[in-house]
Amino acid sequence: MPVTERQTRQRTAIRDAIADAGSPIAPREILARAQTKVRGVGLATVYRTLKLLADAGIVKTVDIPGESPRFELAGKAHHHHFVCRGCGKVFELEGCCGHFHDEVPRGFKVEDHEVVLFGRCAACATPRKR
Ligand SMILES: [Zn+2]
Ligand SMILES: [Zn+2]
Repeated sequence: MPVTERQTRQRTAIRDAIADAGSPIAPREILARAQTKVRGVGLATVYRTLKLLADAGIVKTVDIPGESPRFELAGKAHHHHFVCRGCGKVFELEGCCGHFHDEVPRGFKVEDHEVVLFGRCAACATPRKR
């Protein structure tokens, strides 16, 4: 089935929404951002497009334990994530403190890891003035 111009526009809008977010973003937020750029995008389109973009290696899924999957652009340098329990935002943390090969039993070989930290972001950690 050939890709229509409308589909291309929707795909671009969805990819841009993920790129502009700068941190892992949930499908509903992708929808809200994409809707400001193209008409006629629905959640089903977002999910369908995310699958296409993931299969093409353009976006990747970020699994936060206990939450529905979020998405970020693929191909970034290895990084970790921080989940704020106050506002629910997910932040990217640069760099890696990982020396995880010391933490596995003898003979095991670590090939990859994902680290998710939970806490409060600067805005949520500071008590609000009333
Ligand atoms: Zn927060
Ligand atoms: Zn790491």
